[in-house]
Amino acid sequence: MQKQTVAFSKNSSNLFFHILTKCNLSCSHCYINKEQHGTETLDIETIRSWLSLFSDKAATTNLIYLGGEPTLHPDLYLAVKAAKKIGFKSITIDTNGYLFHDILDKISSDDIDFLSFSLDGATKKTNDAIRGEGSFDKVMEGLRHAYNKKFPCSMIYTVSDKNIHELELMPEFVRDLGIKRFFIQVIGIRGASSKADHPLQVSKKAWLDVIPRVAEAIAGKGIIVTYPKVFLGRDELFECAGNVAQNFFVFPNGRVYQCPICEDFPLHSYEIRENRLITTPKINEKNLFSLRIPEGCVMNKIIQPQTLSYDKNGLPKYRIACCMLKEEIFK
Ligand code: SF4
Ligand code: SF4
Repeated sequence: MQKQTVAFSKNSSNLFFHILTKCNLSCSHCYINKEQHGTETLDIETIRSWLSLFSDKAATTNLIYLGGEPTLHPDLYLAVKAAKKIGFKSITIDTNGYLFHDILDKISSDDIDFLSFSLDGATKKTNDAIRGEGSFDKVMEGLRHAYNKKFPCSMIYTVSDKNIHELELMPEFVRDLGIKRFFIQVIGIRGASSKADHPLQVSKKAWLDVIPRVAEAIAGKGIIVTYPKVFLGRDELFECAGNVAQNFFVFPNGRVYQCPICEDFPLHSYEIRENRLITTPKINEKNLFSLRIPEGCVMNKIIQPQTLSYDKNGLPKYRIACCMLKEEIFK
């Protein structure tokens, strides 16, 4: 088994492109916040011109189409073809599995690098309690359909206190699904999650007891597993991706963030106006990335301080890593 921390690099970029915020589901942990991200569905001409803003680094940029549910966009297939023509390093579609507008009949398995299916439980009961009635059956049906059409598929499991108990079942569950990658995410305290009446994030102990062990078990089935590091070891270096990497989270109202934790607030670094990428005035997230604090991630301390814990001298018991720092494990 091989395990590595995926280092940040200025030479590699990720473009998370939300082409709409509309969705057919209303998951209890949805991070989309229409007040902050807009309600527009970008038309295909706008998608093409916004893609072109990032085209000079396309060869080293991983593009991820997101929503809302991106397959609700009737021209998603044209957006995929436009990105392919520009030459992005990789193209992924994140989907809830409903695969609207017969998307798989309009693109081929050569057009995209991954179709990533969100599933938040190993049983209907747990998944549907989070993602909505019937969503388990739909995502499994969509996954089978994509696999039969030879699309490269992956799965995303967002861990919270509502479903961590079923992560243990996932190694057996995913064994014969034909997925190539499995992404474990930590639930973000933003959008709908920020309104929950109790903490949804799991404790440090629960995270460290379960996640690395289950990740290794899934990797043992021949699937590459990626999960956020979350807690930094005593000797591990803290780095903020905002300073040392290139991540762009683009929303339909034109906001472009570099840090996903900030997405509930107007702290975005850039804005797209009249098809131009404009730097926003102070104070924005960029001005905060360089702050050094003993707790590690500064945005985590400002926006979700409930994740921190202090000793009797007022010192943090552990440091929180950048949410973009990932561990990768594979056979
Ligand atoms: S989490 Fe995704 S699938 Fe669920 S409501 Fe939000 S956008 Fe839709
Ligand atoms: S999560 Fe924290 S460390 Fe990572 S980009 Fe945001 S502010 Fe920086």
